[in-house]
Amino acid sequence: MSDSDSLTTHFGFQQVNEDDKEKKVAEVFDSVADRYDLMNDLMSAGLHRLWKRFTIAQSGVREGARVLDIAGGTGDLSLAFSKRAGKRGMVVLTDINNAMLTRGRDRLLDKGHPVPAAQCNAECIPFKDDSFDCVSVSFGLRNMTHKDKALAEMYRVLKPGGRLLVLEFSSIWKPLAPLYDLYSFKVIPKIGQLITKDAPSYQYLAESIRMHPDQETLKGIMESVGLEKVEYFNLCFGVVALHRGYKF
Ligand code: SAM
Repeated sequence: MSDSDSLTTHFGFQQVNEDDKEKKVAEVFDSVADRYDLMNDLMSAGLHRLWKRFTIAQSGVREGARVLDIAGGTGDLSLAFSKRAGKRGMVVLTDINNAMLTRGRDRLLDKGHPVPAAQCNAECIPFKDDSFDCVSVSFGLRNMTHKDKALAEMYRVLKPGGRLLVLEFSSIWKPLAPLYDLYSFKVIPKIGQLITKDAPSYQYLAESIRMHPDQETLKGIMESVGLEKVEYFNLCFGVVALHRGYKF
């Protein structure tokens, strides 16, 4: 790879400077934060709730656990983790985006599960090595510029014996791809326009899914940063996959 190549990356199907990607991702989430939860329910017909429930079930989080939710946004996973970890445990909600993080923090407060919230880039996590029993990132990794760097950071802050959970859109079973393409490129941006008045952000969503590493590639990246016993579970024919790996 030449030097100039290394300074560009993809933002959906566009090639952009690495510095610009972060700004563009920030614009997307600034724009959709208010209606993010409603859009998730509409686009997935509520399925994201089941995917997240499955993620929690695979987390092994028990009373007293320390959990870090990376790119936690409006806090769905943090809320569920907080209920499991209880008063003796600790869940930290983090996100790079202030609008999403503030919404998540306030939402958890309103639901009676206040958690500490920290605004940070997953590529530079402000916690010590070996701090958490479980680290999660749900529908966030896709947006990160250097996924390997972010995953290495998540590995670093895991305690030995801890587990990383990555819930993300993935590669669908090939025979269903044409139908899925139709839905994601024709229907989702229209729903986005109707609800958030922002079709381009939902066009980005569809494109970014296509640019994200498939199940086996992501497994390889997780192994390359040191995670062990990495496995994945396809959900809804691979629309989404949950990857799980351990630090030993
Ligand atoms: N985890 C939540 C969920 O599953 O509903 C929110 C997912 S939302 C699609 C993606 C989130 O990733 C956004 O809140 C965005 O701000 C965050 N994000 C994007 N890039 C990030 C980065 N480099 N570090 C931390 N968070 C990031």
